[in-house]
Amino acid sequence: MKIRKKLLLDPAAVDVVVGEKGTRDTPGVKSRTRAEKDVRRIAPELADLQERLFAEGKAGGKRRLVVVLQGTDASGKDGAVKHVLGAVNPAGVQVTSFGKPTEEELAHDFLWRTGNAVPPPGQIGVFNRSHYEDVLVVRVHDLVPPAEWEQRYELINAWEAEQAAAGVTFLKVFLHISYEEQRERLLARIDDPRKHWKVNPHDLVERALWEDYRTAYAEVFRRCSTDVAPWYVIPADRKWYRNFALAHLLLETLREMDPQWPVRPELDLDGMRSALRGTAVTTDPSAGGEPS
Ligand code: ATP
Repeated sequence: MKIRKKLLLDPAAVDVVVGEKGTRDTPGVKSRTRAEKDVRRIAPELADLQERLFAEGKAGGKRRLVVVLQGTDASGKDGAVKHVLGAVNPAGVQVTSFGKPTEEELAHDFLWRTGNAVPPPGQIGVFNRSHYEDVLVVRVHDLVPPAEWEQRYELINAWEAEQAAAGVTFLKVFLHISYEEQRERLLARIDDPRKHWKVNPHDLVERALWEDYRTAYAEVFRRCSTDVAPWYVIPADRKWYRNFALAHLLLETLREMDPQWPVRPELDLDGMRSALRGTAVTTDPSAGGEPS
C-alpha cells in the first residue's frame, strides 16, 4: 500500500493523531535495515524525477513542489532535509527556514514572506517551519490577538488553493515525536559537545508549553487539511523511519506529478549533429600533442 495513504491525516481523528500514541510506529516497513536499503533503492528515481521537474521548468512549465515541514523542537526537520533531499541535485532545491519574523516581515501581511519563499517553476521548495507558525507559536504565545489569528486558517487555505492553481503542489508533513523522545534528544544535545551549537535554552520554555502546542496543532489539522493541500503525519521517534517515510511521500508525490522531459521541436537537431561532426579532430600522428 502507498505510504501516502497510510500517513494521510484523518481530520476526524485529530486528537488521536496529536496524542502520544503511534510515534514509534513504522507503517509500511518492518525493520531499520529494510528501510535504509529501500531509501537507497529509490534515491535514483527521486533524482530522476527531480531532474525532469527542473527540465520542465526550464522549458516554460509552471509546476513546482513545496514541502512544508512542521514539528516541535528536535523533531528532526533538519535531519529530514539532509537525509532525504540530499538525494537530489541541490541546484533544484530551495530550503527556507522560517524563524522569528524580521521587522520588515512583520510590517507586511503574515503570508508575505511565505509568498517570497515559493520557489520558481521546476524547483522543489522546502519550508523548514512555515506559515503555520503564524497559527502555532503566534497562538501559543499570544503574539497577536485571537481575533486576528482566528482568521488565518481560512486565509492560509485560500492562499494554498491560489498557489495550487498557479502550479504549486504541496506536501505538508508533520514530524510527530513524543514528549519523552524530545526530552532524550534535547538531553543528547547537552551531553555531546559536538551538538552544543544546537542547544537553545528557549527550547525548554517551548517544551513546557507542549499541551498548548498540541491544541494548536490539532486546530491546524482540523481546519487546514484540504483536498489540494492535505497533511501527512510521520511517526518520527525513529529517525530511520522518518527518512523512509519522507522519501516515499516525496517519491509518490513526484510520480503523481509525472514531470516530462521537454520536447524541443524548434531545435534543428540533425543540422546541429552534422555541424558538430564536421568539427571532429582528425588525428595526425606527426602533429603530436593535444589540439589547442
Ligand atoms: P528549528 O528547531 O526549526 O531547527 P531553531 O529552534 O533552531 O529552529 P530558528 O530557526 O532560529 O530556531 O527559529 C525558529 C524559531 O522561530 C522557532 O521557535 C519558531 O517558533 C519561531 N518562529 C517561526 N515563525 C514565527 C512567527 N511567525 N512568529 C514568531 N516566531 C516564529
